[in-house]
Amino acid sequence: MVDIVLKAVRKSFGSVEVIKGIDLEIRQGEFMVFVGPSGCGKSTLLRLIAGLEAITSGDLLFDADRMNNVIPSKRGVAMVFQSYALYPHMNVYDNMAFGMKLAKSSKAEMDTRIRKAAEMLQIDHLLDRLPKQLSGGQRQRVAIGRAIVRDPRVFLFDEPLSNLDAALRVATRLEIAKLHHDMKDVTMIYVTHDQVEAMTLADRICVLRDGRVEQVGTPAELYDSPNSIFVAGFIGSPKMNFLKGAFAEAYDCDTLGIRSEHIDIVDEGAVWSGEVVHVEDLGSDHFLFVNVGAEEPLIVRRKGKHEVPLGTKLGVAPQPEHLHRFDSAGKPVS
Ligand code: ADP
Ligand code: MG
Repeated sequence: MVDIVLKAVRKSFGSVEVIKGIDLEIRQGEFMVFVGPSGCGKSTLLRLIAGLEAITSGDLLFDADRMNNVIPSKRGVAMVFQSYALYPHMNVYDNMAFGMKLAKSSKAEMDTRIRKAAEMLQIDHLLDRLPKQLSGGQRQRVAIGRAIVRDPRVFLFDEPLSNLDAALRVATRLEIAKLHHDMKDVTMIYVTHDQVEAMTLADRICVLRDGRVEQVGTPAELYDSPNSIFVAGFIGSPKMNFLKGAFAEAYDCDTLGIRSEHIDIVDEGAVWSGEVVHVEDLGSDHFLFVNVGAEEPLIVRRKGKHEVPLGTKLGVAPQPEHLHRFDSAGKPVS
């Protein structure tokens, strides 16, 4: 229910600056994902927004109100962490009620909200259980439920899925996407180092690097038009192919980038050629690793099933409209 604005926000721990001047606007109801490598400042930025850390300089606004000196409980923010932090001796219902009890809500209102949130998260049959009687995914849903019942204006998630196994991660990711759909007015900020989570959940992604914003945009914008090698290499799986030396010079750049799905296998008009040195078959797709003489094998994606023996010689051609050219500073060549 609020627009969040960060203006030249900085944070130092002692003499070490961790957040190095961030300008960012997050719109009401938006699902914004902060993504970036470990240690780049994602959690710190989230904690500054929540009020769990003090901002060293700059401004944080919710709508037009300056939040820098507002205590966490008065910001209307709910946060879900990587560790669920449930009270082990309380059942699910009481865990969800706990934050509301503190806020002195009426019993009836509390009950309505808990049951609604439990239904939304499909944990309504678990309300009597203790945390130890739940799976990891269920515990995390209780933690999310506990945040929902507080009726926040802003929902903050810090890598909520990283303790879950792969299958549960996908299921809970869907749950979070649904939550965003059901709580349209609530502004959500979600931290992850997982670019697949970022791509699938975000309205917009903010890529952070070493305490600064590298690029902000929709998943498609970042995927199609990365403004640096860093973003190009971070977003997308498998990683974008990068070629240097003569491969890049032929295209008047320092580094040439091309995604695996933008390379055609051709009989005539091959631009590069080489032997297949490795194959990864994912069922729906498979990836051919072709040694074209660059530093690393070129990864070429093909749809469907094909038997391609190792050592097969292939000619390939990058689709010209999908080439990414970068200069020696890692910025796009215009
Ligand atoms: P991320 O969440 O992106 O992995 P963090 O925001 O946790 O990164 O940390 C960013 C940097 O700030 C790291 O170098 C970390 O060691 C440092 N840092 C985080 N919290 C503190 C703290 N309370 N005191 C000192 N340094 C901290
Ligand atoms: Mg973190």
